[in-house]
Amino acid sequence: MTDKYDVIVIGAGPAGYVAAIRCAQLGLKTACIEKWHDDKKNAVYGGTCLNVGCIPSKALLDSSHKYVEAQKDFKTHGISATGISMDVPAMIARKAKIVSQLTSGVKQLFMANKVEGIAGSGKLLAGKKVQVTKHDGSTVELSAENVILCAGSAPINIPPAPIDNDVIVDSTGALEFSSVPKRLGVIGAGVIGLELGSVWSRLGAEVTVLEAMDAFLPAVDGQLSKEALKILSKQGLDIKLGAKVTGSKVGKGKAKTVTVSYTNKDGDQEAVFDKLIVAVGRRPVSENLLGENTGVELDKRGFVVVDDSCATSVPGVYACGDLVRGPMLAHKGMEEGVMVAERIVGKKTQVNYDLVPFVIYTHPEIAWVGKTEEQLKAEGREYNVGTFPFSINGRAMAANESEGLVKIIADAKTDRVLGCHIIGPSAADMMQQMVIAMEFSASAEDIGLTMFSHPTLSEAVHEAALAVAGHAIHGVNKRKR
Ligand code: FAD
Ligand code: NAD
Repeated sequence: MTDKYDVIVIGAGPAGYVAAIRCAQLGLKTACIEKWHDDKKNAVYGGTCLNVGCIPSKALLDSSHKYVEAQKDFKTHGISATGISMDVPAMIARKAKIVSQLTSGVKQLFMANKVEGIAGSGKLLAGKKVQVTKHDGSTVELSAENVILCAGSAPINIPPAPIDNDVIVDSTGALEFSSVPKRLGVIGAGVIGLELGSVWSRLGAEVTVLEAMDAFLPAVDGQLSKEALKILSKQGLDIKLGAKVTGSKVGKGKAKTVTVSYTNKDGDQEAVFDKLIVAVGRRPVSENLLGENTGVELDKRGFVVVDDSCATSVPGVYACGDLVRGPMLAHKGMEEGVMVAERIVGKKTQVNYDLVPFVIYTHPEIAWVGKTEEQLKAEGREYNVGTFPFSINGRAMAANESEGLVKIIADAKTDRVLGCHIIGPSAADMMQQMVIAMEFSASAEDIGLTMFSHPTLSEAVHEAALAVAGHAIHGVNKRKR
């Protein structure tokens, strides 16, 4: 006799816990299995995002940014602050407290919504049965009308720089340094490399980022990635492009260092670091997730194969979040979780994959939605561009935050906004208004005709929209009317 549920979710990261809560809200008997646990073997919910991803990294980004403000920016405002220092263990403890508040918050949401949380490792068996291996080694078998696989992702390891969790760490280890490394190496100038590289650079580490590709942030609109490279380099990140890591050697003794060898256009190189972060991407956690003959298909890279509605080829089995195609972002997984729950009860909910917002939480932030100029050129599509720099936005000047720009791209014939790209203060929150506008198929003219509060950073969005037609008021128009 097996316990029978309407829905079993495997994994309680943002995709899984959101799917479970929405299923329960819709009246479905729902269980969510999670293998992450505390010292007492109780399940810890929230996955990568709450435990070792989005939230802890932002906590450290905010702490380190305040340190820089106190050290460098206060004096611009006439504030003198001397003897500023950073207590790294206190910063890490603050981060841990936020993580714990949020993960226990998910536990409370499960209770409030009557989701049954189950501690252990889940495996899908044939016939929509699920085996749970508890932390004491015992197993139970459950079954469900519907199973949602949300096992998430883990850092990719590379043979030239094996993680030892001491000198060579992945993103999780980089959130836990007990002091500021003097020389920090980062492999990969992607999102994690730039965010965590920034944290430790702001606190005083000499940071070198080794990036295999010749292009910097190739997914970002070219005008913004150029601007980002300039600003981040000025902040002290030594970003070496076209640097292919070939090996690493950890020294012996108490104060260990690591010597990293790499090749670039000038030949073989070596660099010595006190800590090395490997941030070269993430892979789906699909090993040990599927039993024999489940019928669920994996692609060559281990992603569960799903259609646009996150259904696998087995009726009643779905998969969401980092475990499936598409960008590895918490909000993308959450929307997929809601979509699957609603489709299980017969709604026709869809995710608009064309409007996934992206943010890199450096300072200034880099945020974008929709198409880049490079993509539109490749598609042969005609478009108009409006830009507006923060250097002439009153609110940005008042805040001494005047680096960066807003760029809006609209279709040349219909004026429909096709992309919005912002590098600047609070870019993530500002860009979100354009995601909403684009969901409603706004034209640049619609944005231009909308009244914006003054003085706000968002006025730069307004002016960029006006600039698409060549009539920004507070800036010189490149495009003539
Ligand atoms: P996960 O969050 O990985 O959760 C999967 C869960 O499933 C885990 O709890 C795991 O323990 C559990 N699990 C796995 N296998 C089993 C099993 N067999 N049985 C039971 N449980 C299982 N994204 C953003 O959108 N914004 C950000 O700012 C951001 N910052 C990040 C910073 C860092 C340092 C990192 C590493 C990631 C960041 N991300 C960010 C990415 C984001 O964390 C992921 O996209 C998101 O967590 C994926 O959600 P998920 O639910 O698919 O998987
Ligand atoms: P990434 O894909 O963003 O960047 C990895 C970088 O490493 C790439 O530039 C790649 O060219 C480079 N690289 C790969 N192999 C290399 C090698 N051998 N030597 C040197 N460079 C190499 O991956 P990430 O930074 O590890 O982040 C993983 C995922 O986590 C991303 O997909 C991202 O979506 C998610 N994430 C999101 C946020 C956010 O939304 N703010 C923050 C952190 C992480």
